[in-house]
Amino acid sequence: MIHTTGYAAMSSSAELAPYGFERQDLLDDEILIDILYCGICHADIHQSKNEYGNTVYPLVPGHEIIGRVKERGSKVTKYIEGDLVGVGYYILSCGGCPNCLNHEEQYCDIGITQTQNGRLPDGNTTKGGYSTNIAVNEKYVLRIPEILNKPGVAPLSEGEGGAIELARNSIAKMINCASLSDKMITAEEGGDAHCGLNNPALKAQVVFDWLEEVLSITPGKKSVQSKYY
Ligand SMILES: [Zn+2]
Ligand SMILES: [Zn+2]
Repeated sequence: MIHTTGYAAMSSSAELAPYGFERQDLLDDEILIDILYCGICHADIHQSKNEYGNTVYPLVPGHEIIGRVKERGSKVTKYIEGDLVGVGYYILSCGGCPNCLNHEEQYCDIGITQTQNGRLPDGNTTKGGYSTNIAVNEKYVLRIPEILNKPGVAPLSEGEGGAIELARNSIAKMINCASLSDKMITAEEGGDAHCGLNNPALKAQVVFDWLEEVLSITPGKKSVQSKYY
């Protein structure tokens, strides 16, 4: 078992409070991530208050996660210890249905397992990123460039959905702006708004390349609008 400390809501009316719990031992295809930052999404608030009507308490919210790989299972091939990675809204799908095989995991026939308040195959409920660590199948993990501002990019890690696409479009415009010296301030503001960048012409291209890569390898790449959220 992996000991974890987090923040949990114990009921729909309770404020989040410190909460210690155990995660299951690492599977062969999982990495253990030491969490550095986690964005706050409105879904976290909805679920804490049981406004979707399906919250299992204690609820540990958090699905916009940035952290570093601390350990890896024996079959992990994409990441090594120390890599900077992100985790988004879901951490598992069946992997074998037509949608999963078509790289549309968010439409999995069995249903995705959400990062928080999701149901794992062993029957346990997932606990999210308002915590010190999380174990995730490497397939549902994103690589994060070191050049990015870590807390600033955390919300983008949810980007199996619209966030990545929004950022991609915005940054594409930012790169265009950055080619004109009199628009550099505009570009920098755009970068700061999305990723905390401070050298737009150079760094924006890195981010743009990364987002293109994310779109090409991320579960759900073919659709930016999930029916689940
Ligand atoms: Zn969210
Ligand atoms: Zn599936």
